[in-house]
Formats: sequence, structure tokens, C-alpha cells
Amino acid sequence: DLLPVRRALVSVYDKTGLADLATCLVKAGVEIVSTGSTAAAIVEAGLPVTPVEEVTGFPECLEGRVKTLHPRIHAGILADRRKPDHLAQLEDLDVTPVDLVVVNLYPFIDTVERGAPFDACVEQIDIGGPAMVRAAAKNHPGVAVVTDPGRYAEVAQALTAGGFTRSQRRSLAAAAFAHTAAYDAAVATWMSTQVQQDQREEDSPGRAESAETAVAGDGGHAQARAALPAYIGAGYERLSLLRYGENPHQEAAVYRAPGARGGVAGARQLHGKAMSFNNYTDTDAALRAAWDHGQQVCVAVVKHANPCGIAVSAYGDVAQAHRRAHACDPVSAYGGVIATNATVTAAMAQQVRPVFTEVVAAPAFTDEAVEILSAKKNLRLLVVEPPQREGYEIRQVSGGAVVQHRDVLDAPGDDPSSWTLVAGEPAGDAVMDDLLFAWRAVRSVRSNAVLLARGGATVGVGMGQVNRVDSCRLAVERANTLGQGGQEVPGAGAEGAPGAAPERARGSVAASDAFFPFADGLQVLLDAGVRAVVQPGGSIRDQEVIEAAQTAGVTMYLTGARHFSH
Ligand code: 5GP
Repeated sequence: DLLPVRRALVSVYDKTGLADLATCLVKAGVEIVSTGSTAAAIVEAGLPVTPVEEVTGFPECLEGRVKTLHPRIHAGILADRRKPDHLAQLEDLDVTPVDLVVVNLYPFIDTVERGAPFDACVEQIDIGGPAMVRAAAKNHPGVAVVTDPGRYAEVAQALTAGGFTRSQRRSLAAAAFAHTAAYDAAVATWMSTQVQQDQREEDSPGRAESAETAVAGDGGHAQARAALPAYIGAGYERLSLLRYGENPHQEAAVYRAPGARGGVAGARQLHGKAMSFNNYTDTDAALRAAWDHGQQVCVAVVKHANPCGIAVSAYGDVAQAHRRAHACDPVSAYGGVIATNATVTAAMAQQVRPVFTEVVAAPAFTDEAVEILSAKKNLRLLVVEPPQREGYEIRQVSGGAVVQHRDVLDAPGDDPSSWTLVAGEPAGDAVMDDLLFAWRAVRSVRSNAVLLARGGATVGVGMGQVNRVDSCRLAVERANTLGQGGQEVPGAGAEGAPGAAPERARGSVAASDAFFPFADGLQVLLDAGVRAVVQPGGSIRDQEVIEAAQTAGVTMYLTGARHFSH
């Protein structure tokens, strides 16, 4: 599957390594076709070169805007070598095929970063280069394409070997498409920055700096502040600017992922103030919590991306689930975000109304519920399709990003039939239901996470601690102190909600998002009277941990799966 090289088109802005590359090509008997200053550099190296005008019969014109944009060039790149008809057409048209395209693009990004004026940046948007790169990459079965001087060594090797292999051509094509995609994303990002500056200028004429001076006069700093991309990665689309980011001095916007369905970015707002940055992230966390319980009706109340309470209703009653979720921690529910996987009813709306709440997100609301909740001017009502479960998630790190598949509840070990009983009596149905609920709920809590539950509702959540003992202490302390305070929702008293008991840790079940590294954290739970525990296991001190549970006569299951969330 070797592709021999007879004719190469070389058109490079960055002339690094060009002389060596041209030397290799000429030695291998390859004809080089080249543009203006690239051809000049090759001639200067004492090597033969065919000027592109000689191929096109058309002069380079418009200050270089049109050099290789010509059918005699593009037909030579795009003809499919496997199709006799294509080759016959080349013959008829007297077009020589191009087997290798070596192009690197105008330095658009460098020009912007240097703080060049607007028109100068526009001039550095390469048109003919990307066209050739994409054409060659598309036709990689017959053409090799190189966009990175760092890969010229591969060209030299391929020439020695007699041509490019199929996998080399594919790899080069993939790099070429990534290169033009990143290039266009940079152009789009820069352009959207200009649009934002235009808008500011229109909003307060005379005050906003022009794009040129903002960039040039501020050493690029104004650019950095305003530079919210129209696209992040491939195809992210900006939906709207937000009032500000996590804090008022940060600019922010919301984007929709390519092809995304559902989730908070695609929500439909029925009522209330515009969504803020923190509303988006908290609603996302609440949705994740509310949609983790299969067919059961579930309500989650979230603050600062952590659940204040999660509950399911055995009767499929969303108002009951809300009362119980709220009762876990009525103090923290103030100013929270509520999400459910069920239709919000009038009964739930009546309960939510007296409690200051930022957002209620649900797949549907009854008309009556909307009417009741619309009485609160600022409360945001969001109709949200289930969040996406498949796909990957991106988290930025300095200098780049880390990407992972989404954590969903289908890891081996999430199914209780695979759990291993390592201490105490096997759980009866009710305790098993609670363990499963706790295991599903703890995934939504930031690590280190320890969660206490009873009767399908959380009663104590220990989140975000840097050691697991503190998470255990926090879960117990919050279970035993928080149920009473805060604002009660109407009907809570009649419920016999878990909030009614002063010592809610006693008799509850516990879930831990990762293993107990020592027995000390577990001991806190045992001392508080927890009746059963589910945790991944896998610590080198598992035996010590298991013995502590056995000594206390407390049931313990190991799942083998872990659900860190940071
Ligand atoms: P040279 O330095 O050889 O004069 O030009 C090389 C640069 O021109 C390369 O960066 C290449 O991407 C770009 N280029 C090649 N053909 C065209 C064209 O037809 N139009 C534009 N705008 N740029 C081209």
C-alpha cells in the first residue's frame, strides 16, 4: 500500500527545515511545485522548482490572496487515484497529479497575539493553505499531507522507503484536519471577541476602546479578558452571554456541545430572572443527583454543587420526595437549586413557594404549579430534558484540558446483586433499598463523600473533606443537628419525615464514595449507630475496616466500584 511520490506541492509560511526537505525531495526525483517566497527559498538553496504560476497559467494576484486557488492545482490534489475515470479526466485536462502536499499556514494566532491592528489580523487568515490541506487530507488514499515541520523527518523516511504507507497517510490526514480545525477555531474566537467589543462600543459609545487599541495598548490583556470563544473544541456553540461568571468580575457565557440533547444548557426557561453561571453549575449538579434513581420519583436540593438533600418517594409522589429532601438540611436549602425527574405538581409548588429558591428544574410542570411558582418574580423555572449520560466531559487544566468519559451508574459494582457481604447479617429488603439509595446518591456528592440515608432520603451528607474521617464526622454531625432548623415546608410535620428524629444518624445506612483507608472513619459511623454500610473496598487495610464492622455487628457490603467526584 505504498504511495510513491512524484510531484510535491510545497507552500510554507514557516520555512523551518525547508531546504533539507527540498533536498530530500529532489534527491528522490520528486518535482517540487511551489508558491512565491517558498519557491524563492528553494532556488536560493540551489534546487530546481516549478513555480505555481507555470502550473496554473495564472499569476499570483491580490497581494497573494490568490496563489494556489486554481482548478489545475486542486484537481491534481483531489483526483481519486482508484477511479480510472478521475485519472482519464486528468489526462484530458492535462493536469499532473500531486502526491504530497506540504503546507503550513499564515501565522494568524501569532499576529493576533502580537497585538496587530484588525485589518492586519484579517490579512493573516490563510485561505488557499487550508483549502489545499483539507483537499489533500480528504484524498489521503492518494495524497500525503504534512502541516508540521516536526514531521519532515517522516517524509524523508518515506521517500527512502519508496512512499507513504496507508497508516502514515491516515495519521497525517488526521493531524491536518485537526490543524485546520484549530486554526478556524482561533479565527472564530478572535472574531467573536471583536463582536463583543463592537457591542460594548454600541452600549456606551466613546467609552469602550476600539478593538485595535484594546489589543495593542494593553499588551493583549484586554484581549485575554474578553476572549470568550465562539467555539471551544470542535463545534461548541455559544448560546448567550451571562451577566457574569462565578464572581462579578468574571465574564461568562453558556455554550451548547455539538449534537447535545437535554441537559441544563438546552433547558427551556418558563419564568424568572436570567440564569447565572452558578445557577447553571448548581442545576447541573442537581440534575445529576435527581436522575440517578432509575424509575423512582426523586428530588434533589443542591447548594454550591453539593446536595443538601436527596429523596425518592415510594408512592411516586413528587411533593413527598421534595418534603423529605428538604428536611435533610432545611438550613442549607435556603437559596438552593431544586431538581426532579418528575412533573412538578401544585402540591410541590406550594411547598417550594415559601422557601427562597434559585431554580426549579424538571422535565415538566403542571399549569397550576407554574402559576403558583410564577408568583415569585425571581425564581427560575426550567424545563429540562434528562441530562446526557453518554459522551465525555472536559475539564480545563492550566495549559490544556483533561477529558474523560462521564461517570454513570453502570460501573461494574453498581448493581447490588454483585455486592459482597463482608460483615454482619445480610440486609433485609428495607435496609437493602436504603443501601442502594445511598449508593446511588453518594455519587452526586463531592469527594470525600460519606452519606447517611434512611427510608429513601438522605439524613446526613458529609462532603468535600480532604480526609474520610472528617467526611464521616460531618455526615453524622449534620444528621444529628440539621434536621430541626431552617425553614419548614408546609406539610413537613405530618410527614414523619426523617427530619423529625433528633438522632438521625442512629439506625441510618451509610455509603462512602471510595474505600475507607483506615478503620477510624468507619468507627465514627459505627459509634453514631449506623446499621449498615456500603463502600467500594480495595484498601490495603480492608481487613481492619471489615473487622471493625464485624465487631460492631454492622452489615457491610463491598461494591468494587468507586464514584469519586471532584
Ligand atoms: P509563500 O511564502 O510561498 O509566498 O506563501 C506560502 C503561504 O501561502 C502558505 O502559508 C500557504 O498556506 C499560503 N497560500 C498558498 N496558496 C494560497 C492562496 O491561494 N491564497 C492564500 N491566501 N494563501 C495561500
